[in-house]
Amino acid sequence: MTSGWGNNFQSLSSRKPADTVAQVQEVVAQTGSMRGLLAAGLHRSYGDSALNSGGTLVALTGLNQIEIDRPSRIAILGAGATIRDLEVAALAQSLFPPVVPGTGYVTIGGAVAADIHGKSHHRTGAFSQCLRRIKLLLSSGAIADYSPTDIEFWATVGGLGLTGIILEVEMELREVSSNSVTVLEKRVKNLDEMIALLDQSDSDFEHTVAWIDLSGDYRGRGVVSLGNYGDSSPHASSQMKGRAPSTRGLSLPTLGGMNFITPLTVRAFNEFWYRKPLKDGAASIVKYMHPLDGVNNWNNVYGRSGFLQYQFVIDLGKEEIFAKLFAGLRALKAASFLGVLKKFGEQSNSPLSFPRRGWTLTLDYSVTVPGLEKFLREFDEELAAAGGRIYLIKDSRLDPGLISAMYPRINEWRSTRNLMDPKGLWQSDQARRLQLC
Ligand SMILES: Cc1cc2nc3c(=O)[nH]c(=O)nc-3n(C[C@H](O)[C@H](O)[C@H](O)COP(=O)(O)OP(=O)(O)OC[C@H]3O[C@@H](n4cnc5c(N)ncnc54)[C@H](O)[C@@H]3O)c2cc1C
Repeated sequence: MTSGWGNNFQSLSSRKPADTVAQVQEVVAQTGSMRGLLAAGLHRSYGDSALNSGGTLVALTGLNQIEIDRPSRIAILGAGATIRDLEVAALAQSLFPPVVPGTGYVTIGGAVAADIHGKSHHRTGAFSQCLRRIKLLLSSGAIADYSPTDIEFWATVGGLGLTGIILEVEMELREVSSNSVTVLEKRVKNLDEMIALLDQSDSDFEHTVAWIDLSGDYRGRGVVSLGNYGDSSPHASSQMKGRAPSTRGLSLPTLGGMNFITPLTVRAFNEFWYRKPLKDGAASIVKYMHPLDGVNNWNNVYGRSGFLQYQFVIDLGKEEIFAKLFAGLRALKAASFLGVLKKFGEQSNSPLSFPRRGWTLTLDYSVTVPGLEKFLREFDEELAAAGGRIYLIKDSRLDPGLISAMYPRINEWRSTRNLMDPKGLWQSDQARRLQLC
């Protein structure tokens, strides 16, 4: 059985590991099932993007080579290499990937298929902005190289694994002067203060993000975290340089399948987190980028039924939608201990890439909260009507009728995809549910 990170669906499929390009080609040549084939990374997508019930999953984590050419700052990466392994290899040469997500346990293939974003999106854009080439295995068995001048490149970026199997990518890294980030945290009393502070920090900080407390009175109080690479003080810089990122953290047991996330536990945790001592100074780059990686399998705290992560983006100037959302969640007593607000910059060229200029809010909820699904369905409609959209890589529940409002270039993507995969080999539970293909 396989599930996404949210553990809210269990899926049965035939899983085939492939550690070489020849092995991947062999799996593709042998797959005849009506339910097709899907590339899989580390299953850090929350919902059903990386599930293919009744079909085949090809597991690519063995395809993990990392080669870095220091003078050109170009890395050639196997699709199964992780962001974390890339960070370790790059830091050893005073380099770093310009865009990294909130966890390092994501494969390069998964990062491309989602066109992931990080805390730097307002400056760097999404993951695709650092890519120079993608090597893709097509359903015909042919291997093709695509660059940003090709429509196939942009259909594959954010393309949810539905255009082919990414085998390798070429990406440009950035220089860093140390293994640290200079971090400044500020407490804010409500959403208006949070939005104002994030807004005014864009020009001075490469990394901006806010933890938002959505429990209690739902005023949107929280902690805004602002960061820049390196540390201006020579002492701190020499201390951090060369330090290896910490090893994997503690593992959380399954805790008997119980859900520990209740309005009471969330409120207590959020009160503690809101009052925590604020950072002002150097922090480890890896810990700063991936704060949740200290505890493995933290998703187990939601118990057997699992949870969903709801992430959407809405245009600047349409902030009134937050008040409606908060009022509805408050009425349901739906408390989230992982609430994140961030301001995005410009969208990439990909028709299915999620990030685009606006505010993005991310919330985690146990699927057992009474009335939550009905409320979110209504909110999805309001969001679509207001021009917003949800992040498909985290989705497991969106109504297919809303896709074209949220992703207006979906038909353009569909026609490129159909040319790339005329026999409809690449499939996923999400693609079938949302009628993407
Ligand atoms: C704690 C946590 C924090 C996160 N933070 C962020 C964040 O800050 N920003 C963000 O954007 N996302 C974030 N994510 C989401 C995560 O980055 C994406 O879900 C990513 O796609 C997961 O990569 P994976 O290797 O686990 O891929 P999987 O979950 O295994 O697969 C995801 C998709 O990628 C496709 N895919 C995987 N490998 C290939 C390949 N070689 N070729 C073609 N398609 C492939 C799959 O078919 C599937 O559609 C976070 C997730 C977690 C759990």
